[in-house]
Amino acid sequence: MSSPNVKNTSLAFPPRLSHRSVGFVCLMVAAFAQVVIAQHAAISPPPDERFKADILVIVGHPDDESLIAGYLARAVLDEHKRVAVVFATRGDAGQNLVGYEQGRALAETRETEAREALGSIGIYHAWFLRAPDTPYPDVPDVLRSLESWNHGNVLGEMVRFIRLTRPEVVITMLPDIVVGENHEDHQASGVIATEAFDIAGDPTWFPEQAAAPEDRLWYSNLMEGLHTWQPEKLYYFTDASHLDFVKGQGPEYSMTATSPSQHLSYGRLAAKETSFHKTQYDGDPAAALAADDMSYYEQPLTLILGKSLVGGSVAGDIFQGIVSDPIPFRPVRGYRQSPTLNQGRTGEVSIELGGGWAFYKQFWTSHNLDSLPRLLAPELGVGSGQNFPVPLLLHNNTNKAVTFALRAQLPPGWSLDSNSAQYAHHPLPENAFLVAAHDYFPVRIRLVAPQVGKPVWQEITWSAEADGRSAGSATLKVYVGGH
Ligand SMILES: [Zn+2]
Repeated sequence: MSSPNVKNTSLAFPPRLSHRSVGFVCLMVAAFAQVVIAQHAAISPPPDERFKADILVIVGHPDDESLIAGYLARAVLDEHKRVAVVFATRGDAGQNLVGYEQGRALAETRETEAREALGSIGIYHAWFLRAPDTPYPDVPDVLRSLESWNHGNVLGEMVRFIRLTRPEVVITMLPDIVVGENHEDHQASGVIATEAFDIAGDPTWFPEQAAAPEDRLWYSNLMEGLHTWQPEKLYYFTDASHLDFVKGQGPEYSMTATSPSQHLSYGRLAAKETSFHKTQYDGDPAAALAADDMSYYEQPLTLILGKSLVGGSVAGDIFQGIVSDPIPFRPVRGYRQSPTLNQGRTGEVSIELGGGWAFYKQFWTSHNLDSLPRLLAPELGVGSGQNFPVPLLLHNNTNKAVTFALRAQLPPGWSLDSNSAQYAHHPLPENAFLVAAHDYFPVRIRLVAPQVGKPVWQEITWSAEADGRSAGSATLKVYVGGH
């Protein structure tokens, strides 16, 4: 513990001073006081430049960043951008292909793997929020991860890292339900990154982070002394197994292109980065590199533009339009409550997919992600023969209770396992649900997918009637065998 260097400064008069020398000393004291004041004025420092990032990457687990490692290698090694990464979890619920270490021991291993992986492409600033790695469920639901992470805690930490690193660009995972790995922690990282993008510039959010410390040169200070910060562009990447929908949604980067500084393709640099995640991939990336099989790693990488506050074209380079001076805080439109508590117009009855699907419809609009509602029709990947749940919401926005009747149109080979409503003692026959006035009813359907020889897209539609009149329908595209 070292002593602070400007505490308890005393200015004692020397003994036996003449009047003349007292006057001189007074001048000296006045001059010294000015110097002290000037020193105090000069020591109000700017934000710590060592942690300034051009791009902040926000992901769920160690290895999620590997999906964009080819682009990050280009940005860092050839465009000399500063990149930092925040991992929400340390991947503690995953498998270990090289040893017995699991749980917290695995988390330590994976954190180190991630740091070494990032170091291989010149990224040295990485933080781990230590949110729990949510075990993979039957069907991912982003709300489960937000709950298990304790959403507010993680959001506060994410806002802190935006304020600390002051990135112009945030890149994170797509907040949507896609066919692919589609881990709910991936979606949750995208939700929290989007929220942090939108509030880090607002001094009323987590104000203790943005308030000045009482005395930075003394100990035990509270208030963090960060500055609010408004990032300029928000991009998403996806772990979807079908990528046709990302074409034209943002910039595309070639992974066969050769890095001028490394003399290797960006795909090879991505494979090398991935090879450090040995608990997850063992020797596969190294084997692919040795065999010169870059077919997986050299596919073009397309990012999805979530929003830009500084213009630029959708498919333009990530840094197109970026301005170096800080931009003012730009509030998003936020949630607007409909005339009734639930979705749909007053006087109507309706049905919709629940869970993450219902949440995202509100989330995208609230956060000005205006292209996301058009990106994908609701879809889900399940395994051949898998038993899985689908959440539905029945809305009654009328002034009286109504009874909904629910009917599913299942393709051949499908079967219904059960409907579970949220009442312990269901008073009505199966497929009938009594919904109070201006209320909603969550229904959980369990379905059994057919056994299929090869993956196939199929469509399931639920139609609802309320007291004999149509309440509409909800449709889900399911990729069977694509889990
Ligand atoms: Zn992951």
